Amino acid sequence: MTRIGFIGLGIMGGPMAANLVKAGFEVTGYNRGRSKVDKFVEAGGRGASSVGEAVRDAEVVITMLPDSPDVESVVLGDDGVLAHAPEGVLLIDCSTIRPEVSRAIAGRVRALDAPVSGGEQGAIDGTLSIMVGGAAEDFQAAQNILRAVGGTVVHVGAAGSGQTVKAANQLIVAGTIELVAESLVFLEAHGVDTEAAIEVLSGGLAGNRILDRKAAAMVRREFTPGFRVELHHKDLGIVQAAAREAGVATPLGAVVAQLMAALNAQGDGGLDHGALLKLVAQLSGRE
Ligand code: NAD
Repeated sequence: MTRIGFIGLGIMGGPMAANLVKAGFEVTGYNRGRSKVDKFVEAGGRGASSVGEAVRDAEVVITMLPDSPDVESVVLGDDGVLAHAPEGVLLIDCSTIRPEVSRAIAGRVRALDAPVSGGEQGAIDGTLSIMVGGAAEDFQAAQNILRAVGGTVVHVGAAGSGQTVKAANQLIVAGTIELVAESLVFLEAHGVDTEAAIEVLSGGLAGNRILDRKAAAMVRREFTPGFRVELHHKDLGIVQAAAREAGVATPLGAVVAQLMAALNAQGDGGLDHGALLKLVAQLSGRE
């Protein structure tokens, strides 16, 4: 049995930690504010009231936090993981953060960057796609844990590489949502039955997971997250910085980053990223 300290029991971390408990690991969970910790205890986990308490006896620490500064403070801060975890602990950071922050952390502690894709449903089902950067032996050591929360688990290279692959993932997802949103508003404007259109589009070359999983809710204007606009705005910032660093042009990525930024600036950061449809409808004078 591996003892795991799990920090960040939000939309993704909550069900991931619960799946680790189901798989037989001894998991101690911590989140800011008691309610998410209580929910995790109901799911069979152990609750902690500080980072220190969560990681004190851990062999592995998993973090699932919003952004780079959160991971930096929770891992490297005065009262953080490094200050309290036993020598030799393996950190698995599943948050989506800047690749250079993952590399800096890997310079201080045995660490894997292991960002995920698959959304809340993938976290609940334990079928996430996990892109892992770090040392091959640490990846091997973490196999059982990663496979308890993921369906597709791939070692993609040295520290930071997982985050680079995740940035590419977020570029593809944002661009695809925007194209689906534009297509749906276009179909509505022509008075076409969108349900029938989605069915037939899904069977052809235009078929994609956004169409399968998100289009129906987008048509209904249901934007309960899921994945929040403010987080995708953060991720497109990571994409733009990393593309610039590599000298790569991402023209469509730049446009969708602007649209996501506008949606966020309008106060819709708490909505699901499918709300890009709302912006397209507004720009078209239809909302
Ligand atoms: P979330 O906001 O629901 O969860 C983050 C949790 O961390 C919250 O419960 C918050 O209270 C907690 N937290 C923040 N700072 C803390 C601190 N200092 N100490 C303790 N707890 C703290 O976000 P989420 O949707 O679960 O996303 C988490 C990460 O996973 C993000 O980096 C996101 O980009 C990424 N991600 C999300 C999804 C998704 O569909 N939601 C999919 C893939 C990846």
